[in-house]
Amino acid sequence: MKKWSRIIVAVLLAFCVMNVSAMAAGSGSLGIASSGTEAKPGDTITVTMSVTSNPGIATLAAHISYDPEVFTLESKSIGGLLAENTAAYDSAGNVGFDLGDDTALANVEGTGAIGVAVLKVKETASPRTSIISAVFEEGYDVDITPITMSGSSVSITIPAPAHEHSWGDWTVTSDATCAAEGVETRNCSGCEETETRAISKLTTHTWGDWTVTAAASCTADGTKTRTCSVCGETETETIPAAGHKWDDGKVTAATCTTDGVKTYTCQNDATHTRTETIAALGHDWGEWTTIKEATITEDGEKTRTCARCGEIQTEVIPAEGYKFLEGMDASWTKGSSEDLGFRVNGEAAGFDHAEVDGTALTKENYTVAEGSTILKLKPEFLESLTVGSHTLTAVYTDGGKANTTFSIKDKETAAQPATGSTQSSTGNNNTKDEVKKSPQTGDDTPIALWIGALILCGGTAVLVGKRKYE
Ligand SMILES: [Zn+2]
Ligand SMILES: [Zn+2]
Ligand SMILES: [Zn+2]
Ligand SMILES: [Zn+2]
Repeated sequence: MKKWSRIIVAVLLAFCVMNVSAMAAGSGSLGIASSGTEAKPGDTITVTMSVTSNPGIATLAAHISYDPEVFTLESKSIGGLLAENTAAYDSAGNVGFDLGDDTALANVEGTGAIGVAVLKVKETASPRTSIISAVFEEGYDVDITPITMSGSSVSITIPAPAHEHSWGDWTVTSDATCAAEGVETRNCSGCEETETRAISKLTTHTWGDWTVTAAASCTADGTKTRTCSVCGETETETIPAAGHKWDDGKVTAATCTTDGVKTYTCQNDATHTRTETIAALGHDWGEWTTIKEATITEDGEKTRTCARCGEIQTEVIPAEGYKFLEGMDASWTKGSSEDLGFRVNGEAAGFDHAEVDGTALTKENYTVAEGSTILKLKPEFLESLTVGSHTLTAVYTDGGKANTTFSIKDKETAAQPATGSTQSSTGNNNTKDEVKKSPQTGDDTPIALWIGALILCGGTAVLVGKRKYE
Protein backbone atom coordinates (compact mmCIF):
# COMPACT_ATOMS: atom_id res chain seq x y z
CA MET A 1 0.00 0.00 0.00
CA LYS A 2 2.68 2.44 1.00
CA LYS A 3 4.69 1.34 -1.94
CA TRP A 4 2.07 2.32 -4.40
CA SER A 5 1.41 5.64 -2.73
CA ARG A 6 5.11 6.36 -2.79
CA ILE A 7 5.29 5.53 -6.49
CA ILE A 8 2.36 7.84 -7.27
CA VAL A 9 3.86 10.66 -5.32
CA ALA A 10 7.14 10.11 -7.08
CA VAL A 11 5.51 10.16 -10.52
CA LEU A 12 3.66 13.31 -9.62
CA LEU A 13 6.81 14.93 -8.44
CA ALA A 14 8.64 13.90 -11.57
CA PHE A 15 6.13 15.42 -13.85
CA CYS A 16 5.01 18.46 -11.85
CA VAL A 17 8.08 19.59 -10.05
CA MET A 18 11.09 19.75 -12.27
CA ASN A 19 13.40 19.12 -9.42
CA VAL A 20 16.19 17.13 -10.89
CA SER A 21 18.23 17.17 -7.74
CA ALA A 22 15.42 15.44 -5.89
CA MET A 23 15.81 12.49 -8.24
CA ALA A 24 19.43 11.88 -7.15
CA ALA A 25 19.36 8.56 -5.29
CA GLY A 26 21.39 7.89 -2.16
CA SER A 27 23.08 4.49 -1.80
CA GLY A 28 24.06 2.37 1.18
CA SER A 29 24.68 -1.23 2.09
CA LEU A 30 23.12 -4.09 3.95
CA GLY A 31 25.19 -6.51 5.97
CA ILE A 32 24.38 -9.99 7.22
CA ALA A 33 25.99 -11.91 10.08
CA SER A 34 25.48 -15.44 11.32
CA SER A 35 26.09 -16.96 14.72
CA GLY A 36 28.27 -19.57 13.07
CA THR A 37 29.58 -20.69 9.73
CA GLU A 38 28.87 -24.39 10.22
CA ALA A 39 25.74 -26.08 11.37
CA LYS A 40 24.82 -29.73 11.45
CA PRO A 41 21.30 -31.02 10.84
CA GLY A 42 19.19 -30.10 13.87
CA ASP A 43 21.37 -27.16 14.79
CA THR A 44 19.96 -23.63 14.83
CA ILE A 45 21.75 -20.58 13.54
CA THR A 46 20.89 -16.96 14.20
CA VAL A 47 21.14 -14.60 11.21
CA THR A 48 21.10 -10.85 11.69
CA MET A 49 20.53 -8.35 8.83
CA SER A 50 21.82 -4.82 9.42
CA VAL A 51 22.21 -1.47 7.73
CA THR A 52 25.94 -1.11 7.54
CA SER A 53 25.99 2.06 5.43
CA ASN A 54 23.04 4.43 5.64
CA PRO A 55 22.34 7.05 2.92
CA GLY A 56 19.50 8.44 4.99
CA ILE A 57 16.28 6.53 4.77
CA ALA A 58 12.61 7.15 5.44
CA THR A 59 11.38 3.72 4.36
CA LEU A 60 13.16 0.46 3.54
CA ALA A 61 12.06 -3.01 2.44
CA ALA A 62 14.57 -5.89 2.59
CA HIS A 63 14.62 -9.62 3.33
CA ILE A 64 16.83 -12.47 4.45
CA SER A 65 16.94 -15.12 1.77
CA TYR A 66 17.78 -18.73 2.61
CA ASP A 67 17.49 -22.16 1.01
CA PRO A 68 14.28 -23.77 2.24
CA GLU A 69 15.63 -27.20 1.37
CA VAL A 70 18.24 -26.69 4.06
CA PHE A 71 16.65 -24.49 6.68
CA THR A 72 13.31 -23.97 8.35
CA LEU A 73 12.49 -20.72 10.12
CA GLU A 74 12.28 -21.12 13.85
CA SER A 75 11.57 -17.49 14.69
CA LYS A 76 12.01 -13.96 13.43
CA SER A 77 12.36 -10.66 15.23
CA ILE A 78 12.79 -6.98 14.44
CA GLY A 79 16.09 -5.27 14.98
CA GLY A 80 16.77 -2.05 16.83
CA LEU A 81 16.91 0.36 13.83
CA LEU A 82 13.40 1.83 13.29
CA ALA A 83 11.97 -0.88 15.50
CA GLU A 84 8.73 0.86 16.38
CA ASN A 85 7.75 1.25 12.73
CA THR A 86 8.79 -2.10 11.34
CA ALA A 87 6.85 -5.12 10.28
CA ALA A 88 8.21 -8.61 9.73
CA TYR A 89 6.81 -11.29 7.48
CA ASP A 90 8.01 -14.54 6.01
CA SER A 91 7.44 -16.99 3.23
CA ALA A 92 9.34 -20.10 2.16
CA GLY A 93 12.96 -19.06 1.85
CA ASN A 94 12.38 -15.45 2.90
CA VAL A 95 12.08 -13.43 6.07
CA GLY A 96 11.07 -9.85 5.12
CA PHE A 97 11.12 -6.57 6.97
CA ASP A 98 9.30 -3.28 6.12
CA LEU A 99 10.74 -0.33 7.91
CA GLY A 100 9.59 3.27 8.28
CA ASP A 101 6.59 5.41 7.46
CA ASP A 102 6.17 7.52 4.34
CA THR A 103 4.81 10.25 6.53
CA ALA A 104 8.10 10.60 8.33
CA LEU A 105 9.41 14.13 8.60
CA ALA A 106 13.08 13.23 8.75
CA ASN A 107 15.45 10.53 7.51
CA VAL A 108 16.69 7.88 9.82
CA GLU A 109 20.42 8.01 9.98
CA GLY A 110 22.98 5.54 11.42
CA THR A 111 23.50 1.84 11.25
CA GLY A 112 22.02 -1.08 13.14
CA ALA A 113 20.17 -4.33 12.97
CA ILE A 114 16.90 -4.35 11.18
CA GLY A 115 15.85 -8.01 11.51
CA VAL A 116 16.85 -11.33 13.01
CA ALA A 117 15.95 -14.85 11.84
CA VAL A 118 16.61 -18.03 13.76
CA LEU A 119 17.03 -20.85 11.24
CA LYS A 120 17.19 -24.56 11.95
CA VAL A 121 19.06 -27.00 9.72
CA LYS A 122 16.72 -29.64 8.43
CA GLU A 123 17.47 -33.25 9.42
CA THR A 124 17.31 -34.13 5.76
CA ALA A 125 19.86 -31.53 4.75
CA SER A 126 22.68 -33.10 2.80
CA PRO A 127 26.22 -31.85 3.25
CA ARG A 128 26.80 -28.67 1.30
CA THR A 129 27.58 -25.00 1.56
CA SER A 130 24.41 -22.91 1.74
CA ILE A 131 24.24 -19.16 1.09
CA ILE A 132 22.10 -16.86 3.23
CA SER A 133 21.71 -13.36 1.77
CA ALA A 134 20.54 -9.90 2.77
CA VAL A 135 18.47 -8.66 -0.19
CA PHE A 136 17.47 -4.99 -0.76
CA GLU A 137 14.01 -4.50 -2.22
CA GLU A 138 13.35 -0.76 -2.20
CA GLY A 139 13.71 2.35 -0.11
CA TYR A 140 13.07 6.12 -0.11
CA ASP A 141 14.31 9.03 1.73
CA VAL A 142 12.21 11.66 3.38
CA ASP A 143 11.88 13.45 0.07
CA ILE A 144 10.53 10.24 -1.41
CA THR A 145 13.59 9.84 -3.48
CA PRO A 146 14.51 6.17 -4.05
CA ILE A 147 17.61 4.98 -2.49
CA THR A 148 19.69 1.93 -3.36
CA MET A 149 21.49 -0.43 -1.07
CA SER A 150 23.85 -3.27 -1.92
CA GLY A 151 23.18 -6.66 -0.40
CA SER A 152 25.49 -9.21 1.12
CA SER A 153 25.58 -12.88 2.00
CA VAL A 154 27.09 -15.40 4.37
CA SER A 155 28.05 -19.06 3.74
CA ILE A 156 26.99 -21.78 6.11
CA THR A 157 28.61 -25.17 5.82
CA ILE A 158 26.50 -28.21 6.42
CA PRO A 159 29.11 -30.85 7.18
CA ALA A 160 29.02 -34.48 6.34
CA PRO A 161 27.74 -36.59 9.20
CA ALA A 162 30.47 -37.85 11.48
CA HIS A 163 31.62 -41.45 10.99
CA GLU A 164 34.34 -43.81 12.15
CA HIS A 165 36.99 -43.76 9.45
CA SER A 166 37.82 -47.13 8.02
CA TRP A 167 41.49 -46.70 7.47
CA GLY A 168 43.31 -48.85 4.99
CA ASP A 169 46.93 -49.91 5.41
CA TRP A 170 49.69 -47.36 5.45
CA THR A 171 51.33 -47.05 2.08
CA VAL A 172 54.76 -45.60 1.65
CA THR A 173 54.47 -42.62 -0.64
CA SER A 174 58.10 -41.61 -0.34
CA ASP A 175 60.90 -43.71 1.10
CA ALA A 176 62.90 -42.49 4.05
CA THR A 177 66.63 -42.20 3.49
CA CYS A 178 69.51 -41.45 5.82
CA ALA A 179 69.21 -37.87 4.59
CA ALA A 180 65.44 -37.25 4.81
CA GLU A 181 62.28 -38.54 6.41
CA GLY A 182 59.84 -40.48 4.25
CA VAL A 183 56.06 -40.23 4.08
CA GLU A 184 53.35 -42.84 4.31
CA THR A 185 49.66 -42.40 3.63
CA ARG A 186 46.38 -44.20 4.35
CA ASN A 187 42.90 -43.65 2.99
CA CYS A 188 39.46 -44.00 4.56
CA SER A 189 37.35 -46.42 2.62
CA GLY A 190 34.22 -44.59 3.83
CA CYS A 191 35.15 -41.06 2.86
CA GLU A 192 37.71 -39.05 0.99
CA GLU A 193 39.83 -38.51 4.09
CA THR A 194 43.52 -39.36 3.87
CA GLU A 195 46.11 -39.29 6.61
CA THR A 196 49.86 -38.98 6.28
CA ARG A 197 52.70 -39.42 8.69
CA ALA A 198 56.48 -39.23 8.60
CA ILE A 199 58.79 -42.23 8.36
CA SER A 200 61.92 -41.73 10.45
CA LYS A 201 65.23 -41.19 8.74
CA LEU A 202 67.21 -44.37 8.16
CA THR A 203 70.05 -44.99 10.58
CA THR A 204 71.89 -47.08 8.03
CA HIS A 205 73.97 -45.42 5.40
CA THR A 206 74.91 -46.34 1.87
CA TRP A 207 78.63 -46.47 2.42
CA GLY A 208 81.11 -46.27 -0.41
CA ASP A 209 84.39 -48.16 -0.38
CA TRP A 210 86.97 -47.43 2.27
CA THR A 211 89.73 -45.10 1.21
CA VAL A 212 93.02 -45.33 3.02
CA THR A 213 93.87 -41.85 4.21
CA ALA A 214 97.01 -42.87 6.11
CA ALA A 215 98.54 -46.28 5.52
CA ALA A 216 99.48 -48.38 8.52
CA SER A 217 103.12 -49.34 8.91
CA CYS A 218 104.54 -52.31 10.76
CA THR A 219 104.50 -50.36 14.00
CA ALA A 220 102.08 -47.41 13.51
CA ASP A 221 98.32 -47.46 13.02
CA GLY A 222 96.81 -45.95 9.86
CA THR A 223 93.34 -44.57 9.09
CA LYS A 224 90.70 -45.15 6.45
CA THR A 225 87.56 -43.20 5.55
CA ARG A 226 84.32 -43.89 3.73
CA THR A 227 81.45 -41.64 2.70
CA CYS A 228 77.70 -42.19 2.48
CA SER A 229 76.62 -41.62 -1.10
CA VAL A 230 73.17 -40.49 0.09
CA CYS A 231 73.78 -38.04 2.91
CA GLY A 232 77.50 -37.37 2.63
CA GLU A 233 78.31 -38.49 6.16
CA THR A 234 81.85 -39.78 6.58
CA GLU A 235 83.21 -42.46 8.86
CA THR A 236 86.83 -42.94 9.88
CA GLU A 237 88.39 -46.10 11.22
CA THR A 238 91.81 -47.08 12.46
CA ILE A 239 93.86 -49.53 10.44
CA PRO A 240 95.85 -51.43 13.03
CA ALA A 241 99.62 -51.60 12.67
CA ALA A 242 100.44 -54.69 10.65
CA GLY A 243 103.40 -55.86 12.72
CA HIS A 244 106.64 -57.00 11.15
CA LYS A 245 106.53 -59.94 8.81
CA TRP A 246 109.89 -61.53 9.32
CA ASP A 247 111.39 -63.80 6.70
CA ASP A 248 113.14 -67.06 7.54
CA GLY A 249 116.40 -65.25 8.23
CA LYS A 250 119.85 -65.39 6.68
CA VAL A 251 122.59 -67.08 8.63
CA THR A 252 126.17 -65.96 8.90
CA ALA A 253 127.55 -69.15 10.44
CA ALA A 254 129.36 -69.21 13.73
CA THR A 255 132.93 -70.55 13.74
CA CYS A 256 134.82 -72.26 16.51
CA THR A 257 135.82 -68.91 17.99
CA THR A 258 133.48 -66.25 16.61
CA ASP A 259 129.73 -65.85 17.07
CA GLY A 260 127.51 -66.18 14.03
CA VAL A 261 124.41 -64.11 13.39
CA LYS A 262 120.97 -64.82 11.98
CA THR A 263 119.46 -61.72 10.36
CA TYR A 264 115.73 -61.52 9.75
CA THR A 265 114.34 -58.99 7.25
CA CYS A 266 110.79 -57.63 7.37
CA GLN A 267 108.94 -58.55 4.21
CA ASN A 268 106.78 -55.43 4.55
CA ASP A 269 109.74 -53.08 4.74
CA ALA A 270 113.24 -54.32 4.04
CA THR A 271 114.75 -51.58 6.19
CA HIS A 272 113.38 -53.42 9.22
CA THR A 273 115.78 -56.10 10.42
CA ARG A 274 116.47 -57.97 13.60
CA THR A 275 119.32 -60.25 14.49
CA GLU A 276 119.93 -63.26 16.67
CA THR A 277 123.39 -64.23 17.83
CA ILE A 278 124.56 -67.74 17.15
CA ALA A 279 127.08 -68.68 19.82
CA ALA A 280 130.62 -69.58 18.76
CA LEU A 281 130.86 -73.33 18.44
CA GLY A 282 134.08 -73.94 20.35
CA HIS A 283 136.79 -76.18 18.91
CA ASP A 284 136.10 -79.79 18.18
CA TRP A 285 139.34 -81.16 19.56
CA GLY A 286 140.67 -84.57 18.63
CA GLU A 287 142.77 -86.76 20.93
CA TRP A 288 146.11 -85.51 22.21
CA THR A 289 149.08 -86.79 20.23
CA THR A 290 152.45 -86.94 21.95
CA ILE A 291 155.03 -85.24 19.77
CA LYS A 292 157.87 -85.64 22.22
CA GLU A 293 157.86 -87.79 25.34
CA ALA A 294 158.85 -86.07 28.53
CA THR A 295 161.99 -87.39 30.21
CA ILE A 296 163.12 -87.03 33.78
CA THR A 297 164.86 -83.79 32.98
CA GLU A 298 163.24 -82.53 29.76
CA ASP A 299 159.67 -81.44 29.03
CA GLY A 300 157.79 -83.27 26.35
CA GLU A 301 155.14 -81.88 23.98
CA LYS A 302 151.66 -82.96 22.86
CA THR A 303 149.25 -81.54 20.30
CA ARG A 304 145.62 -81.87 19.34
CA THR A 305 143.80 -80.61 16.26
CA CYS A 306 140.32 -79.11 15.82
CA ALA A 307 138.37 -81.26 13.41
CA ARG A 308 136.42 -78.20 12.28
CA CYS A 309 138.94 -75.43 11.75
CA GLY A 310 142.24 -77.27 11.88
CA GLU A 311 143.62 -75.20 14.70
CA ILE A 312 146.43 -77.02 16.50
CA GLN A 313 146.87 -76.71 20.22
CA THR A 314 150.25 -77.54 21.74
CA GLU A 315 150.87 -78.37 25.39
CA VAL A 316 154.00 -79.11 27.36
CA ILE A 317 154.32 -82.51 28.99
CA PRO A 318 156.26 -81.58 32.10
CA ALA A 319 159.57 -83.35 32.77
CA GLU A 320 159.11 -86.16 35.25
CA GLY A 321 161.89 -84.98 37.58
CA TYR A 322 163.97 -87.20 39.83
CA LYS A 323 161.97 -89.04 42.43
CA PHE A 324 162.13 -92.00 44.74
CA LEU A 325 160.23 -94.99 43.46
CA GLU A 326 160.68 -97.31 46.47
CA GLY A 327 161.78 -97.08 50.06
CA MET A 328 160.07 -93.81 50.79
CA ASP A 329 159.49 -93.22 54.50
CA ALA A 330 161.29 -96.45 55.39
CA SER A 331 162.58 -97.10 58.91
CA TRP A 332 165.63 -98.84 60.24
CA THR A 333 166.10 -100.17 63.80
CA LYS A 334 169.27 -99.65 65.70
CA GLY A 335 171.28 -102.82 66.02
CA SER A 336 170.14 -104.20 62.67
CA SER A 337 172.80 -105.57 60.40
CA GLU A 338 170.75 -104.96 57.26
CA ASP A 339 171.06 -102.30 54.63
CA LEU A 340 168.26 -99.79 54.18
CA GLY A 341 167.40 -99.87 50.45
CA PHE A 342 165.83 -97.28 48.16
CA ARG A 343 165.20 -96.99 44.44
CA VAL A 344 165.30 -93.71 42.47
CA ASN A 345 164.06 -93.27 38.88
CA GLY A 346 167.30 -91.78 37.51
CA GLU A 347 169.86 -93.84 35.63
CA ALA A 348 172.53 -95.20 37.96
CA ALA A 349 175.17 -93.99 35.53
CA GLY A 350 174.17 -90.43 36.19
CA PHE A 351 174.13 -90.77 39.98
CA ASP A 352 176.62 -88.49 41.67
CA HIS A 353 176.23 -88.83 45.43
CA ALA A 354 173.82 -89.24 48.35
CA GLU A 355 173.12 -86.75 51.12
CA VAL A 356 171.51 -87.26 54.48
CA ASP A 357 170.04 -84.26 56.18
CA GLY A 358 171.83 -82.07 53.61
CA THR A 359 175.25 -83.51 54.18
CA ALA A 360 176.99 -85.43 51.41
CA LEU A 361 177.88 -89.00 52.37
CA THR A 362 181.19 -90.56 51.62
CA LYS A 363 181.07 -93.47 49.19
CA GLU A 364 181.75 -96.15 51.81
CA ASN A 365 178.41 -95.34 53.56
CA TYR A 366 176.23 -96.64 50.72
CA THR A 367 176.15 -98.70 47.58
CA VAL A 368 174.72 -97.83 44.18
CA ALA A 369 173.51 -100.37 41.63
CA GLU A 370 171.73 -100.40 38.29
CA GLY A 371 167.92 -100.80 38.24
CA SER A 372 167.10 -97.25 37.72
CA THR A 373 169.22 -96.37 40.73
CA ILE A 374 169.29 -98.79 43.65
CA LEU A 375 170.75 -96.99 46.65
CA LYS A 376 171.50 -98.86 49.85
CA LEU A 377 172.59 -97.19 53.08
CA LYS A 378 174.93 -99.41 55.06
CA PRO A 379 174.08 -100.47 58.63
CA GLU A 380 177.37 -99.07 60.00
CA PHE A 381 176.36 -95.63 58.77
CA LEU A 382 172.73 -95.95 59.87
CA GLU A 383 173.90 -96.91 63.34
CA SER A 384 175.62 -93.52 63.52
CA LEU A 385 172.42 -91.61 62.98
CA THR A 386 170.25 -90.33 65.78
CA VAL A 387 166.89 -91.88 66.46
CA GLY A 388 164.17 -90.01 64.55
CA SER A 389 163.40 -88.78 61.09
CA HIS A 390 166.07 -87.99 58.47
CA THR A 391 166.12 -86.74 54.93
CA LEU A 392 167.82 -88.71 52.15
CA THR A 393 168.74 -86.89 48.94
CA ALA A 394 169.90 -88.55 45.74
CA VAL A 395 171.98 -86.07 43.73
CA TYR A 396 172.66 -86.66 40.02
CA THR A 397 175.45 -85.32 37.90
CA ASP A 398 173.07 -83.03 35.98
CA GLY A 399 172.19 -81.30 39.24
CA GLY A 400 168.82 -83.03 39.59
CA LYS A 401 167.81 -84.26 43.04
CA ALA A 402 165.26 -86.55 44.61
CA ASN A 403 164.30 -86.49 48.29
CA THR A 404 162.61 -88.82 50.72
CA THR A 405 162.56 -89.32 54.47
CA PHE A 406 163.39 -92.33 56.56
CA SER A 407 163.47 -92.92 60.30
CA ILE A 408 165.88 -94.51 62.74
CA LYS A 409 164.26 -96.39 65.58
CA ASP A 410 165.76 -97.27 68.91
CA LYS A 411 166.39 -100.95 69.38
CA GLU A 412 164.56 -101.07 72.75
CA THR A 413 161.64 -99.02 71.44
CA ALA A 414 161.30 -101.42 68.56
CA ALA A 415 161.64 -104.50 70.87
CA GLN A 416 159.18 -103.46 73.54
CA PRO A 417 156.08 -103.54 71.30
CA ALA A 418 157.21 -106.94 70.07
CA THR A 419 153.95 -107.57 68.37
CA GLY A 420 152.90 -108.61 64.92
CA SER A 421 152.46 -105.04 63.84
CA THR A 422 156.07 -104.15 64.52
CA GLN A 423 157.29 -107.24 62.75
CA SER A 424 155.05 -106.50 59.86
CA SER A 425 156.42 -102.95 59.68
CA THR A 426 160.00 -104.16 59.70
CA GLY A 427 159.22 -106.80 57.17
CA ASN A 428 157.81 -104.28 54.80
CA ASN A 429 161.01 -102.37 54.84
CA ASN A 430 162.99 -105.44 54.27
CA THR A 431 160.83 -106.50 51.39
CA LYS A 432 161.57 -103.29 49.62
CA ASP A 433 165.22 -103.51 50.40
CA GLU A 434 165.59 -107.04 49.14
CA VAL A 435 167.93 -107.35 52.09
CA LYS A 436 165.68 -110.03 53.54
CA LYS A 437 167.17 -112.69 51.29
CA SER A 438 170.50 -112.50 53.05
CA PRO A 439 169.80 -112.71 56.79
CA GLN A 440 173.48 -112.45 57.69
CA THR A 441 173.22 -112.28 61.47
CA GLY A 442 170.24 -114.49 62.27
CA ASP A 443 170.32 -113.34 65.89
CA ASP A 444 167.23 -111.19 65.35
CA THR A 445 164.86 -114.06 65.91
CA PRO A 446 161.47 -112.36 65.28
CA ILE A 447 162.67 -111.01 61.98
CA ALA A 448 164.12 -114.34 60.93
CA LEU A 449 160.87 -116.08 61.77
CA TRP A 450 158.90 -113.56 59.83
CA ILE A 451 161.19 -113.87 56.80
CA GLY A 452 160.71 -117.61 56.83
CA ALA A 453 156.98 -117.24 56.87
CA LEU A 454 157.12 -114.73 54.06
CA ILE A 455 159.20 -117.07 51.88
CA LEU A 456 156.75 -119.88 52.42
CA CYS A 457 153.56 -117.89 52.01
CA GLY A 458 154.49 -114.84 49.91
CA GLY A 459 157.04 -116.23 47.54
CA THR A 460 155.26 -114.88 44.53
CA ALA A 461 155.49 -111.30 45.80
CA VAL A 462 159.16 -111.76 46.42
CA LEU A 463 159.77 -113.12 42.95
CA VAL A 464 157.92 -110.20 41.38
CA GLY A 465 160.02 -107.83 43.43
CA LYS A 466 163.18 -109.50 42.20
CA ARG A 467 162.24 -109.23 38.59
CA LYS A 468 161.54 -105.54 38.91
CA TYR A 469 165.06 -104.93 40.14
CA GLU A 470 166.57 -106.87 37.34
ZN1 LIG B 1 36.00 -41.66 6.59
ZN1 LIG C 1 73.89 -41.58 4.76
ZN1 LIG D 1 108.37 -54.25 9.38
ZN1 LIG E 1 138.15 -75.16 15.66
